[in-house]
Amino acid sequence: MAETQIAAAREGTITDEMKRVAERENREPEFVRQQVADGQAVIPANRNHDALDPMIIGREFATKVNANIGNSEETDDLETELQKLHTAVHYGADTVMDLGTGSRLDEIRETHLEHSPVPIGTVPLYEAVKRAGSPEEITTDLLLEVIEKQAKQGVDYMTIHAGILAEHLPLTDGRKTGIVSRGGSIMAKWMEEHGEQNPLFQVYDEICEVFAEHDVTFSLGDSLRPGSIADACDEAQYAELDTLGELTRRAWANDVQVMVEGPGHVPLHRVAENVERQQEVCDGAPFYVLGPLVTDVAPGYDHITSAIGAATAARAGAAMLCYVTPKEHLGLPDEEDVRDGLAAYRIAAHAGDVANERPGARDWDDAVSEARYEFDWREQFRLALDPDRAREYHDATLPEDNYKEARFCSMCGVEFCSMRIDQDARADDGGMEELETGADDAGTDLESSPAAEVNRPPVGVHDSADLLPIEDCEAFGDESDAEPGTASDD
Ligand code: SF4
Repeated sequence: MAETQIAAAREGTITDEMKRVAERENREPEFVRQQVADGQAVIPANRNHDALDPMIIGREFATKVNANIGNSEETDDLETELQKLHTAVHYGADTVMDLGTGSRLDEIRETHLEHSPVPIGTVPLYEAVKRAGSPEEITTDLLLEVIEKQAKQGVDYMTIHAGILAEHLPLTDGRKTGIVSRGGSIMAKWMEEHGEQNPLFQVYDEICEVFAEHDVTFSLGDSLRPGSIADACDEAQYAELDTLGELTRRAWANDVQVMVEGPGHVPLHRVAENVERQQEVCDGAPFYVLGPLVTDVAPGYDHITSAIGAATAARAGAAMLCYVTPKEHLGLPDEEDVRDGLAAYRIAAHAGDVANERPGARDWDDAVSEARYEFDWREQFRLALDPDRAREYHDATLPEDNYKEARFCSMCGVEFCSMRIDQDARADDGGMEELETGADDAGTDLESSPAAEVNRPPVGVHDSADLLPIEDCEAFGDESDAEPGTASDD
């Protein structure tokens, strides 16, 4: 049996995946190896996932972003599902979770794995429920069968809801919103019906054996995450976290990589506390957070409420951020929602990297600022996180080509453009000096920046995958028919 990344790292071996990660992160391969060996970072890389461009998730590396996709009962078209993957990668997802619950799940998963340059994650519990017909009908054998099959197919990481125990359930009784994790509610119902302990907890070591064989990474599900500000940081959430710490150490003992999932809904002043507590309880295993949403009052804008929490979590040490779209709590996201959600989360991740002074992370900001001050509109668009959106908004009022040279835009207008006024003042014989920040030689050179790949434009680029600009992908058909996302709740 081939070794897992963590087993190789512990023996002192630098794998090809570690070398590729080091290149993408601009770090020494030995540093990558040490982080993986210590369980402080994971490289989700199932050895059956041939199209993968390896990446790393850990608090010492650039913050990563996950997007959820997947079908429902109503959609099972392979091209539509592939389009969802493409949309997510195009707009900068570092990993993609396939949370499909419809039909043709195996074909869709295999198609995703065949094409995806980013790690694919799943929640095998969903397929088990689908096959069993209801949560109560699930059996331990079925769970293991589904997990093993998905591992053989090449899934890189799986959410396993093994941390919710029978003794935790009464702790949720006084909550405002109960158990909001899909997987958590399924396991709670199973335990209530059977009067037994969580089967995923019972067979955890057997799951470890399967994961070790195929090098699948655990994403330990936080089944009791708060679904409202009122329920944040309660006894139920933290009791499960203690179990997740125990499961983390058991996975490591089996040479299996682990990351741990986190909330949810948390008020802003308690986000850092959540990260710090997870890091302590789980001995520094990477924290993969959903948002968190810092207020409950803004359905329709939850990509914003959650990106605020996500940036705070990244600053505090979260390693990966699971995106939330504007449709959270409301419906299935469309392509524009996926684009908006990923933009919000790429911003949150980058803001965290700048605040944490990741090598070269701020160079991107400086390059954009220089182009902006120089009124180099084309360069500002090219460097933007979403170039098409930036150009579209500018051209909505000043579309003609000559305005690409203009020393103003329509926001303040020519007379009140502060940057133009500032430049003119500096050009006069006064006490202010002219700035050289945007001049050719004084400008930031992104080509030689020590920044990790995700902290430099363009986002969503992968060496090992032939990802065309989305508008050039005839194979994906009419984008307007696609349903790129799914709800983020797992
Ligand atoms: S007009 Fe206002 S917003 Fe536009 S470039 Fe000048 S200062 Fe910036």
